[in-house]
Amino acid sequence: MKADAVLMVDWSARSAPSPARPVADAIWIGEADGQAVTDSYHRTRHAAMAALEARVSLALGRGERLLIGFDFPFAYPAGFARTLTGTDDPLALWDWLAERIEDGPDNGNNRFEVAAAINRTLTGIGPFWGRPAHLDLADLPTHGSTRTCTLFAERREVEQRLKSTQPCWKLYTTGSVGSQALLGLPRLAALRRRFSGQIAVSPFEPADAPIVLAEIFPTLLDKVVRARTGSDDIRDRVQVRTLAEAFRALPPRRLGEMLGEGDPVEGWILGIGHTDELDAALAESAPGPLAPPPLSDDCFALPRGTDWTPVDTALAELRARIRPVTGTGDIAVAEAEGRVLARDAVARRAHPPGANAAVDGYGFAHAATGAGPQELPLLAGRAAAGAPFGGRVPEGCALRILTGALLPEGVDTVILEEDTASDGERIAFHGPLRRGANTRRAGEDIAPADTVLPAGRRLTPADLATLSAAGLGRVTVHRPLRVAVLSTGDELAEGGDADSPAQTVDANRPMLLATLARWGMVPLDLGIVPDDPDAVRAALDRAAGEADAILTSGGASAGDEDHMSRLLSETGSMATWRVALKPGRPLALGMWGGVPVFGLPGNPVAAFVCTLIFARPALLRLAGADWAAPEGFDLPAAFAKRKKPGRREYLRARLRDGRAEVFASEGSGRITSLSWAEGLVELPDGAAEIAEGDPVRFLPYGSFGL
Ligand code: AMP
Ligand code: MG
Repeated sequence: MKADAVLMVDWSARSAPSPARPVADAIWIGEADGQAVTDSYHRTRHAAMAALEARVSLALGRGERLLIGFDFPFAYPAGFARTLTGTDDPLALWDWLAERIEDGPDNGNNRFEVAAAINRTLTGIGPFWGRPAHLDLADLPTHGSTRTCTLFAERREVEQRLKSTQPCWKLYTTGSVGSQALLGLPRLAALRRRFSGQIAVSPFEPADAPIVLAEIFPTLLDKVVRARTGSDDIRDRVQVRTLAEAFRALPPRRLGEMLGEGDPVEGWILGIGHTDELDAALAESAPGPLAPPPLSDDCFALPRGTDWTPVDTALAELRARIRPVTGTGDIAVAEAEGRVLARDAVARRAHPPGANAAVDGYGFAHAATGAGPQELPLLAGRAAAGAPFGGRVPEGCALRILTGALLPEGVDTVILEEDTASDGERIAFHGPLRRGANTRRAGEDIAPADTVLPAGRRLTPADLATLSAAGLGRVTVHRPLRVAVLSTGDELAEGGDADSPAQTVDANRPMLLATLARWGMVPLDLGIVPDDPDAVRAALDRAAGEADAILTSGGASAGDEDHMSRLLSETGSMATWRVALKPGRPLALGMWGGVPVFGLPGNPVAAFVCTLIFARPALLRLAGADWAAPEGFDLPAAFAKRKKPGRREYLRARLRDGRAEVFASEGSGRITSLSWAEGLVELPDGAAEIAEGDPVRFLPYGSFGL
């Protein structure tokens, strides 16, 4: 079987929802699709099955094949199914249990009662045992040793091959796999009914349906799992991820053969006896982070004869040559803020997952209402968020319903509480109401398989909400771009150290390091380098060894001490981009040891503007993000200015009283102007005569991610 994706489910028999914060002994689903391994945590069986149903629908829609493993027995020791159902077919027992087991959306269930009822019909005490002391069920002994029923084996044949299995008869305390099966098999029966004809259960049916279910054993690959589990990791999570990855890594022929193994009456544990083979498949397939090839050495070369390059041309050239250089990996959604998606985030779940009420009020069938005064009898009970109303609301009746509650069967419309009168027995209101009023449709926000966020997106806090709502626990992102920053100049000193007037304080480095951090990159501080070719060479060597990109400032033009441009020229990769831009002098772009170098002007104002206009989109692109152009808007100018043609200008500006003010001095030596400003005014390449009140383009710092 060629499985496009393998999902492994660590099931849970909890009787209440698991904590919101992920823990062990809850439901974990790991998924491997050959490219990435993801996992998700589910607080209830209901939620987990909703996610699986959405995943199955998605696969069927896409024509994919899925293998889904569950870690509870798919069958009982021989004779049990026949005794209850009259046939040895375990799938008949699934349906038999599905008719009797009740398992609410909040995990409340009747498994002990059902087990006691089964015991009652069989000779002797047992075989099921184990229950909480407060449950008064005479037919269900609290201790296994008091049982006298000898109709069935204690363990299935397959379980005798394993050291650490628990018998399926045990329902309470550690490893109560019996409870997991009683609460799992009915869910699988429902899944088979919902996707009838599309699901095969191994080893009872040939594994040739699009979706194949199989029983798994969580500790099958324990050696690898133990090695992979860090001190902060949840073992169950690592288990399902590892199992999914291993079975996905098996050659399709071998997977098909393993799915065919086993016993049609007692079932089988997929992969048992093949641990070494699975370990080997895992080791071979270990994808590691995917590293794209480095940029080519001539990626910055401008066409011959280029003299002054307009800003837009320079940007278009950069855009065409730069591509992502960082590898990718998986990360928990909660930790993904500021990271760049490496793959489209595809919803595993609809949002909302089911039709629900948008207000507090009363729900009913629209068909039974009309225009004018309406009166409907109230049904006992209510539907609340997280506590659905189990029954059906007959046409002509109303039910109390709260915001976010799933619409019960029979309800398609909700009236706002404030629009009704009620005496507790009836409600009255004025019709007509629109059908579907005050309800939210299932999937109206997100449908399963929707791309909720595209690859290249730098994730915002809001995106974490969207990804979570789409049922995603982890996403594939780029490793953050490491950017080395160094300043060159004999005159430079650290701010706190400068004491001679001959020294210039290094203002660029702190500014650049902080800017990179804002952009979600990892800044590496390589300090101040003197105007000495050997020192600059050594600094570049070190930077190229540690970083994905290098930002330097100073020494970028063609003066005596401009070693940066000279050294980059020596590599043959240097391109001096004489960008028609003020403030900014030549931008030295080149490759050093395979790593792109952005040689910024030394002047802090010019360095700042060049960083925002050129380095930002290029670095973000290297980091895997989409090309980023700042979004500006037009404002009336609070200034007048005559501008010569031939180059674009960026003025340090801020927004006051709805108008764009510019800094009083245009001098590029005025570092404080950068703090005074809240953005840049962009003046076009051509000549301009700006009068007060004329519209000018304002680019707030925020549009540069600052
Ligand atoms: P350069 O590009 O090296 O010729 O430097 C141009 C001007 O910027 C000179 O006045 C330098 O002193 C100054 N400068 C260079 N690097 C920095 C820096 N990191 N911080 C502040 N000023 C600098
Ligand atoms: Mg210098």
